[in-house]
Amino acid sequence: MKKYAGMFSIKEIYRIGRGPSSSHTMGPEKACKEMRKQNPEADRFSVTLYGSLAKTGKGHRTDYAIEQTFGEIPVDIRFDYDKEDLPHPNTMEIIAYRGETELSKKTVCSVGGGAIEVLGEPRTQSETVYPETLYKEIEERCQREGISLSDYVKHCEGAGIDDYLKKVWQRMKDTIHAGMNHEGEIPGGLEIQRKAGILLKQGQGKAFGHEKAIYMMSAYAYAASEENASGEKMVTAPTCGASGVLPAVLYFKQQELGYTDEEIIDALATAGLIGNLIKTNASISGAECGCQAEIGSACAMAAAAFAQLKGFGLTQIECAAEIALEHHLGLTCDPVCGLVQIPCIERNAVAAMRAVDAVSLAEMLYEQRKISLDVAIQTMYETGKDLSVRYRETSEGGLAKLYQEKQEGGKR
Ligand code: SF4
Repeated sequence: MKKYAGMFSIKEIYRIGRGPSSSHTMGPEKACKEMRKQNPEADRFSVTLYGSLAKTGKGHRTDYAIEQTFGEIPVDIRFDYDKEDLPHPNTMEIIAYRGETELSKKTVCSVGGGAIEVLGEPRTQSETVYPETLYKEIEERCQREGISLSDYVKHCEGAGIDDYLKKVWQRMKDTIHAGMNHEGEIPGGLEIQRKAGILLKQGQGKAFGHEKAIYMMSAYAYAASEENASGEKMVTAPTCGASGVLPAVLYFKQQELGYTDEEIIDALATAGLIGNLIKTNASISGAECGCQAEIGSACAMAAAAFAQLKGFGLTQIECAAEIALEHHLGLTCDPVCGLVQIPCIERNAVAAMRAVDAVSLAEMLYEQRKISLDVAIQTMYETGKDLSVRYRETSEGGLAKLYQEKQEGGKR
């Protein structure tokens, strides 16, 4: 299953960019940018979108992202809804032309979180920065060397990761602030009004406790997710659609329990490591493995981050992440009208609360656990592969299908 004997940087888990979809906007944007750079003499391009990129590309604004990337250069965008046997559910073909001459043709897979893989151009082993690829291996090394998970991340990533994570944390906070101050309708046609401000007002008057936690974490998760859905700036964690979970937990817990920014940066390092393990051994792509790969991964990252802030050890952190992921197994991706709004925004709030609950359970039960994080990750991948394509970011099943039928005056 693994293609590399190592893992890439956690910078690929946290990408600062614009929403609403890392795989449908950030990935294609990156692919088109590279193609344009490699073919400076091209005077036009054609892009064909396949699989989930075609089926939910309009709702996710893939075509808009591609047009923006090529700017003044003409681009012909085609949606191929029928082609099967694709190298990845998010596949695109880009051709550069000069006049009638084809200069270059590439098949690119948008593999989740804004990352791309060009067919026939595998990434080199030298790009990997982590020699270990399983939690078990990392835990053993940390125990051997007497270091924490965040120490391990810093050791492998080298100088510069702290500064990068500081930028990530600042962007997460800025996105939450922006989301709390914005009102009105989210673009896309579903006529959804922003709700972060309403939740915030209700939570602000309450004393710290369980009820306040529900309101405030939800407000922050909504704020970040509504910004993403509106195409504003945000950080993938690990994807755009799931970008509200981790910041909501960290921002609320910092206010409630007074963690310093330095402690939050360390927690981000650990959360990034968990996201990286999932990306390496399974998937963080809704098109590949359903929403368990996006929201489930985000929840596991948030649980690990909060567990570390609470001072948990290696086994308890693992247990928290495992519980968070395990109870998202089988979660389908069925975005209504192909937009990253229903069920996505609300789902971020639910997962933020679930991450905190997973930490509480891990605190009590970690000594009796039977399932490791590595097994939960492998299970998520196998479950995702078994999911019908209707539930993997195609909007052909679930909520998306029934909503559509209702709009058309159909069966319900
Ligand atoms: S349902 Fe989940 S995986 Fe699908 S677009 Fe929404 S957040 Fe992403």
